[in-house]
Amino acid sequence: MADKSNSSQDSPPHDSSNPTISKQADFRYQEMVARKNNFNGYRFCPWCAEELLRREMDGHVRLVCSKSTCGFIFYHNPIPGAGVIIYTEKGMLLVKRAHPPRVGSWCLPAGYMEWAESPKEAAVRETKEETGLIVEIDSLFDVYSGDDDPRTNAVLTLYEAHIVGGKLEAGDDALEAEFFQLDNIPEDIAFVAHHQAIADLRSRVEAKTLTESKSTLG
Ligand SMILES: [Zn+2]
Repeated sequence: MADKSNSSQDSPPHDSSNPTISKQADFRYQEMVARKNNFNGYRFCPWCAEELLRREMDGHVRLVCSKSTCGFIFYHNPIPGAGVIIYTEKGMLLVKRAHPPRVGSWCLPAGYMEWAESPKEAAVRETKEETGLIVEIDSLFDVYSGDDDPRTNAVLTLYEAHIVGGKLEAGDDALEAEFFQLDNIPEDIAFVAHHQAIADLRSRVEAKTLTESKSTLG
C-alpha cells in the first residue's frame, strides 16, 4: 500500500452534478468509520445475548462474551473481496460507483465475496453484475488490503481476466462502465487498493510483463 493519499480524508469528494448525490449525503461516512473501528459497534453476544467485554488476547484487544460458559469471541477480521483487471486495446475496464461509499468515483469491477463463493467466482459474478460482461479468469494479478472503505477493512484479490461474452453496460451497482487508456484514467478512483492496482498495472505494462488481452468482445 504505497499510496495512502486518500485514506485520511474525512469525506469523499462530492460531484454536485451527480444525480445520486443525495444518496451520498445520506451516507454517514465518519460515523461508519468510527463504528467499524469500534468492533463494528457490537455490544451483545450473538450466541447468548449477554454483554460483550474487551479482553487482551494474543496481543490483541478482542470482544468476548461476559457469560463464562458461553465462549463466544469476536475476531475482528477484514472482509475478502475480489475483482478483475480487464486490459484490452481499448484500455482498462472501470466502473463508476452508483452506491455509497464514494458514489460517482471510479473503481475496478469488484465486490465482497458471498459466503459460499471462491474468490474467482466472486470476481466473475461482480464483473457481470457491474458491467454486463462475461469474463474468464487468466491469472492472479495481486492481493491488496484496504482500510478506506467506511464499512469494513478489506482484502482485495484481483485477477487478470478476458472477456468471453456479454454486452458492456452499467449494471445496478454502476452508473457507468467504460474502458480507459492508461494515460487517461479518471483522477477520482474510489479506494486506495484500486488506486494501487492501477499503478501496478501501469508499471507492468511499461515493463512489458503484462500485455493486453486479445479479446475483442465487449
Ligand atoms: Zn455469549
